[in-house]
Amino acid sequence: MNKVYISGALTGIEKPAEVKSFYEAIGLLCQEIGFQAYVPHMYTDPINNPDISPSQVFERDKHQVSTSDLVIAYLGSFSFGVGMELAYAEMNNIPIVIIYEKDKVISRFPLGIPTVIAEVQFQTYEDALNQLKNVLEQKKIQQLMNKTYQRPNWDEYFLMLAKLAATRSTCLAFPVGAVIAKNRQVLATGYNGSPSGSVHCTAQGFCYPGLSSCDASKTLPSRAVHAEANAIATAAKHGISTAGASIYVTLEPCIYCLKLIISAGIREVFYETVFNSGEKAALRDSFIADGIVEFKQIKLSESTAKRSASFLLNPTSVPKDDRPFGS
Ligand SMILES: [Zn+2]
Ligand SMILES: [Zn+2]
Repeated sequence: MNKVYISGALTGIEKPAEVKSFYEAIGLLCQEIGFQAYVPHMYTDPINNPDISPSQVFERDKHQVSTSDLVIAYLGSFSFGVGMELAYAEMNNIPIVIIYEKDKVISRFPLGIPTVIAEVQFQTYEDALNQLKNVLEQKKIQQLMNKTYQRPNWDEYFLMLAKLAATRSTCLAFPVGAVIAKNRQVLATGYNGSPSGSVHCTAQGFCYPGLSSCDASKTLPSRAVHAEANAIATAAKHGISTAGASIYVTLEPCIYCLKLIISAGIREVFYETVFNSGEKAALRDSFIADGIVEFKQIKLSESTAKRSASFLLNPTSVPKDDRPFGS
């Protein structure tokens, strides 16, 4: 069931009882339409729930807003909480409906959030509920709410695995990750760092003690094994054939790694960021022209990246009603 988070000021407002029952009426409206509604003050209100600590309120409401399918935010009163909830919604690519009184002046910053899909300007609370009903019943809105069920495509899947591998990098020049895949299966992964068993750059302060960065010296050779070379070496160590495989890398392979990739029988290179230029790019292009390797630059879509970030930030596999992305 799609979950709607109702966001609105609670602290220092005029007529708090009236305002709270307005939020509850929005929650009821959502339930009538068939959504699950989360109205924060019913769980974390300081008057009804004085024993809950600030960190419990933060954890609870952050989790609820980050795992919702839609946020309805009342912007008619100033509120730190609403501002933060909108930021969490935007980070998690959650559609937002903004509501406020017709005569109120609203900061352009929240109005400019790219996931804001509708703005309701109302005269009375009753008018607000009627307009909201029309908005929530639109097919378009319901499809947007379900967008979060989309899976990454295969290129995005392997690129994300390469990015995760990159987080393990220990050479501080560039964090780079690589994944060798064949028939939609991972054969080996690698990241850049010193050779197996040798001290990590991160442990001694860059490639050599005393350097200001791993790539600061023109003469001292880098101690790093590149991510692609590490992935190929891992396959070799475990007796896995890389013939006919593809490699996904967060950075376009350097010429040395590219030669190794070609000789390891890897035929496709998917990369995120360009690296080679000048004569190195010309050599790369000559290999491509020879038909021995193909290159394709790929990107992670923002919606996939945000959905995946939410999987990383929240428990991924939880019972149905608490589930971040369902199904
Ligand atoms: Zn280093
Ligand atoms: Zn390399």
